[in-house]
Amino acid sequence: APALRVRDLRKTYDNGVEALKGVSLDVQPGDFYALLGPNGAGKSTLIGIVSSLVNKTSGEVSVFGTDIDADRDAAMRLIGLVPQEINFNMFEKPLDICVNYAGFYGVPRAQALVRAEEVLRGAQLWDKADKMSRTLSGGMKRRLMIARAMMTQPRLLILDEPTAGVDIEIRRGMWKTLREINAAGTTIILTTHYLEEAESLCRNLAIIDHGRIVERGPMKSLLAML
Ligand code: ADP
Ligand code: ADP
Repeated sequence: APALRVRDLRKTYDNGVEALKGVSLDVQPGDFYALLGPNGAGKSTLIGIVSSLVNKTSGEVSVFGTDIDADRDAAMRLIGLVPQEINFNMFEKPLDICVNYAGFYGVPRAQALVRAEEVLRGAQLWDKADKMSRTLSGGMKRRLMIARAMMTQPRLLILDEPTAGVDIEIRRGMWKTLREINAAGTTIILTTHYLEEAESLCRNLAIIDHGRIVERGPMKSLLAML
C-alpha cells in the first residue's frame, strides 16, 4: 500500500473558505515528497487532515493501507508530525523532551533512553542532550523538533513548512538530518513554499494552488518544464 493515499479530499471551513477542492495523491513508501505551493494554497489543511488535527469535509485518506476513518489510532501510530511552531518546553533538556514524548506514547523508559540517544545523535544534538533547551541555537531547536517526532519510530514523517523563516545555514542543517532519516527508510512529506528546498530534498512533488493540485511528478521532470 502507498505510505499515503488521498482521494478527492475536500475541506470547506466554517467560514465558507474552500481550502481543498478535490485533492488526490499517492506517496510511495520510501519517497521524499514535497507539497509545494504559495501561502493559502491548502498545504497546511491537507497535512492537518492527514495528521487528524483538522476534520475533512469529504474524501478518503489512508496511511500504509489503514483508512483514517476506519482506524484513526492505528493510522496515527504510523505518523510522526513536526509542526511549524516550536512547541517543546524551553526549560526542559533535549533528552527529557524526547524520553517524555515517547513515554506519552507508551514506550517503556529504558527503551526510550536508547532511542533518544539514536535520534539526538542523528540530529547532531547528543552533546546538547543535557543542556537547557532554551540555550540551544535556532537550528538546534528545529532539529530537536525533528528528533522528538522520530522517537516513536514513525514510518511516515510529516513536516509543515519546517524551515519557514529560518536562515540558509539552519535550513541546510535540517536538510542533512532529514536526508539521513529518509535514507534510513522513513517516508517523508513536507510542505514548503521554497522551490529550492523541494529541489534539494525531494524526489517527487505536487504543486498545490487554490486547493487543487496543478502539477505533480518527479522533481526532475517538473524542473525541466520550468
Ligand atoms: P494526473 O492525475 O496528474 O494526470 P496520473 O493520471 O498519472 O496523472 O495520476 C497521477 C496520480 O493520480 C497518482 O500517482 C495518484 O496520486 C493519483 N491517482 C491515482 N489513482 C487515482 C484515482 N483513482 N483517483 C484520483 N487520483 C488518482
Ligand atoms: P497553506 O498552508 O498552503 O498556506 P492553508 O491550508 O493554511 O494554506 O489555508 C488554505 C485556505 O484555508 C486559506 O484561504 C486560509 O485562509 C484558509 N484557512 C486555513 N485555516 C482556516 C481556518 N481554521 N478557518 C478558516 N479558514 C482557514
